[in-house]
Parts: sequence; structure tokens; C-alpha cells
Amino acid sequence: MRQRLPLLVFLALLVLGPAILPEFYITLLNYIGLYAIVTLGLVLLTGVGGLMSFGQAAFVGLGAYTTAYLSTAHAVSPWLALLVGLAITAVVALFLGFLTLRLSGHYLPLGTIAWGISLYFLFGNLDFLGGHTGLTSIPVLGLFGYELNTGREFYYLIWAVLLAAVLATQSLLDSREGRAIRALKGGSLMAESMGVNTARSKTVIFLIAALFACVSGWLYAHLQRFVNPTPFGLHIGIEYLFMAVVGGVVHVWGAIVGAGVITVLKQWLQDLLPRLLGQSGNFEAIVFGILMIFVLQRMRDGIWPLLLRLVPVKAARRREIAQAEPLPQRQLPAIGTLLLEVKGASKHFGGLIANNNMDLTVKAGEVMALIGPNGAGKSTMFNCISGVDPVTSGEVRFLGERVDHLRSREIARRGMGRTFQHVRLLPTMSVLENVALGAHLRGSKGVLAASLHLERAEEARLLAEARRQLERVGLGDCLFDEAGSLPLGQQRVLEIARALCVDPCLLLLDEPAAGLRYMEKQALADLLRKLRGEGMGILLVEHDMDFVMGLADRVVVMEFGEKISEGLPEEVQRDPVVLEAYLGGVE
Ligand code: ADP
Ligand code: MG
Repeated sequence: MRQRLPLLVFLALLVLGPAILPEFYITLLNYIGLYAIVTLGLVLLTGVGGLMSFGQAAFVGLGAYTTAYLSTAHAVSPWLALLVGLAITAVVALFLGFLTLRLSGHYLPLGTIAWGISLYFLFGNLDFLGGHTGLTSIPVLGLFGYELNTGREFYYLIWAVLLAAVLATQSLLDSREGRAIRALKGGSLMAESMGVNTARSKTVIFLIAALFACVSGWLYAHLQRFVNPTPFGLHIGIEYLFMAVVGGVVHVWGAIVGAGVITVLKQWLQDLLPRLLGQSGNFEAIVFGILMIFVLQRMRDGIWPLLLRLVPVKAARRREIAQAEPLPQRQLPAIGTLLLEVKGASKHFGGLIANNNMDLTVKAGEVMALIGPNGAGKSTMFNCISGVDPVTSGEVRFLGERVDHLRSREIARRGMGRTFQHVRLLPTMSVLENVALGAHLRGSKGVLAASLHLERAEEARLLAEARRQLERVGLGDCLFDEAGSLPLGQQRVLEIARALCVDPCLLLLDEPAAGLRYMEKQALADLLRKLRGEGMGILLVEHDMDFVMGLADRVVVMEFGEKISEGLPEEVQRDPVVLEAYLGGVE
């Protein structure tokens, strides 16, 4: 209850607003609501997903112009025009997304600027859209038989839409699809290895952000009852980004705070500055510029986290994980079945030959160790096998099927789980959620179900599976800690739990014992023996020779990208070639 108190107070104030506030503030709140809907899309797209867009105002324009044109020129009902606007926006967004989302780094923002400008000039240059004068006499919006004539009446619709969008976005982020979206910023490669289609996740958030903007434009057109191109230009697109950053770009509620602060400040500065300076002009733009630089220097996380600190609630994410029916498990192949076969695999990085003509096999129910000095090419081999960085030539067969041309997520789906030598996790996400990402392919509920929280039963099963795997590796006590707060050794163990969540039949572990203490290594070895006993195949890279030799059934030794020895642990240990490689020769 204490948790919900600030929200309830906020909602009560919102409901009472029109009864007590003068007209001017209602108008202001309406605009804040409209801006916040667009900004919320940017929080999802830029803040959470890491995809920067300067072009959102153009999507607002699509929503506004579609309804303006259809309802004036063709007397189409505004509600039907909304559906048409959403459809047009979706098509345009999918097309633009297809063109620009593949761009990386600064090319993506440049791309959004390009289409933001194009659409703006399109609005201004099409005669049937009224050119730069725009369209007037847009009809009043009717809702359940009421006509929303005044701002006071419109207010409830705007804020209901905004709150619904905030709650849906929050629900989405707190789901299987949401974890995939949250992995986009900095975790794409890892997420793909866990089966996430990151291109799809990017498209989803791009689409949602565009649709939010479209709805805002539709509302705007019927509130204002007149549109021209000005509010859909590039500089307004920049202002939306500004709102997102000032509010707190990774927080859904930050969208409202940012839109509120910027809108009020702008209004206030527009009144105050010309009076102070004794001449008219857009001085607020200058102040905004300076303010933005200050925000970027001093409070990059925006205002929302500061507000959270003022409220006495603890952001307690320590929720109960419901008891849930276990997820179905893959039938493991019979012990001794050939799981993995690498034949003549080579990997070149430009002139560097990191793997040269490598052969190796792993069977169900065995631990195969891949050892060799630093830089021998072991991690490269892992990347070739798991599809993270495919072979230049040669074959990789998994369960009898050629997989060397498949993407890592497709290989994961076939039952291969892996960890990374340099841990790849999402440091601000909880341990539990990081591990649940591994179970991505074991759920199927989509974005819509997640937004409406209709996937809670499946979500409970995924989280229960993540907890089960964490308990199995000995991390059952830190489910709700931030993953980045664990010691490095434990972070590696977390990765093992995540790989087990994939429900693999082959497990690739790249230096899993590095950074562990003696007892922890013992526990890890026991776990791996147990997995082997159940029929799992394990390919292990490890530098701790006691660990390797006590565990491995067979060993392959690499040096300079090539296999120099293979055999039982005791054979390999006596092989003069191996001793030469490790110790520079012994007598
Ligand atoms: P190991 O895991 O056995 O220590 P790696 O497979 O990480 O060795 O590296 C093998 C060689 O390939 C090293 O010389 C390394 O610098 C090089 N290498 C690995 N990845 C890349 C890459 N992405 N681009 C260029 N060179 C790479
Ligand atoms: Mg390595």
C-alpha cells in the first residue's frame, strides 16, 4: 500500500484537476499529456533500447494529418481516421525501420534526421494537405455520444490514453519480450546467443514509439482542430528527445516528468525572458541549449531517479516468485550420441589465422576439454561453433545438421547453450532476470500479451525455471541483486545458469572456473559431473589444469590456431608436443 501511495495521490490530483484548475493550466496539462505520449515512445526506443531517433515529430504529423485530411475532405469519422493513421504510420515505420535500423552508431540518428526532414517537407508541400497553411475546421471528437468541445473535456481522454500507454509499456518491459528489449542496449550479441531475434525486438520498439507518436498527433489535431507542418519539424523532434533525457530516459514515468518540466519551463521562459530583456524573440531556445548541456554534465539520469529518492518507498524488486509448473524439457540424446562435429574449420581475421583446419567432436554424456595457451584460438572456436562469429571455411555439425551457416539464435534453438569468457550480462538487471533471458525460447507469448499482462502464467514458469537453475549453481541467495554487483567469479556462474535455462543438450563453457575459490570450483566440478551423468555434452575451456584433468573425459590441445594433440587427460599430459607448447620444452 505504501508503495502505491504516491501513485494514488498523483491519480487523485489528475482526476480533480479540471474541477479546480483555471483554463490556462488545463491547456498546459493537455499539451504535457500529448508530449508525454510521444516522449514515452522515446523512453522505450532510445532510453531502454538504445536507438536514438530525432524523427518522432514526423510520426506525430502522420497521425495528425491523416485524421485532419480524412475528416475534413472525406467526412470520415475521427475514430476510423485513427485506425487509418495507425495503419499508415505502421507501414511507414516498418519501411523506415527496415532502412535505418540496420545502421549502427551515429548513422542511425542521421537516418532519423533525414526522414524527419523529408516527412516535414512532404506535409508542407502537398496541396491536398493545405501546404504550409495547413488544414482547418477539423471536426470535434465524439466519445460515447459526448462531444469533446473544450480542453477540459479533452483532458480526461489525453490523460487516460497516456496512463494506459505508460502502464502497457511498463508491463511490456517487465516480461519476456521486455527482457529482450532491455538487452538491446549493450547485450545484443549475448541475447542473440540466447535465442533472441534482436532485429525483431528493435523493430517492435520502433513501431511502438511511432504508433504512440501517431496517437498523440491524432489527439492534437482534434484538440487544436487545425494543423500545419510547424509542430512536426525536426526541432520539435529534438525537443521530444530533450524531454526524454530531462525526465529520465530509461524510466517510463520520466516521460511525464520530462514533458511536464520542459513544457512549463518553456511557457514560463517565453513570458519572462522578453520582459526581462525588453525585446521579443525566442530566447527560451538559448536557455534550453544551456540547460541541456548542464543536464548532460550533471544529471544524465534525469529527474525521475531524483524524485524516487524523495519518496519514502524502497524500490523493492524483491517480489515473490510464484510456484509454477516446470517448463517442459528437451529429451536429451542417448549417452554416447555424437552431438558436435567440427571438421576442417578455419577462421581468419584479415591476415590472422585464428583457427586452422580444426577437428573436434563432443558426445552426449562427456566432458571434452579444449586447452591451450592464451591466444591459441579457443574462444574463437567457441564463436565458430555457436554461430556468434561463423567459420571462414569448414564444417560444423550439431546433432547431425550443418549449422555453420546458421545464426547464433538458430543454433541456440537447436539446443546449444554457452557462456562467454568475458562475461556478457546486463549489469543493472537483476540476477534472476539475466538468467531468465536464457529461457527466452521456452516462452512464446508476444508483445501484445505482455503489454496487457496476459502472460503472467508463462512468465511465472520462466522465472521459476531461472530460479531453479540459479539454485542449482549455488546463486539462490542473490536472485534480486543487480547482476553487476556480483564478484566476477559469480558472474561467470550466473552465465552457466543462464546457459542451462536454454535447456541445452550441449553446453559450451569458456573459462567457467576463473575467479572462483577452491570450494566454489569443487562445487562447479560436482555440478558439471552431475550434468554429464544426465547425458549433457560439455565442451570446456579452462586454464586450471587440476580442474580440467579431474573432470575431462577427453582433451584437445590447441596452439596457434591448430590442434596439436588429442586424447585422454593422462595421455595428453605426457605428450612432449604439449609440454613443449606449455613449458617451452622439458627434459
Ligand atoms: P584464446 O581463447 O585461446 O585465448 P582467442 O580465440 O581469443 O584465443 O584468440 C585467438 C587469436 O585470434 C588471438 O590472436 C586474437 O587476438 C585473435 N582474435 C580473436 N578474436 C578476434 C577478432 N574479433 N578480430 C581479430 N582478431 C581476433
Ligand atoms: Mg579465450
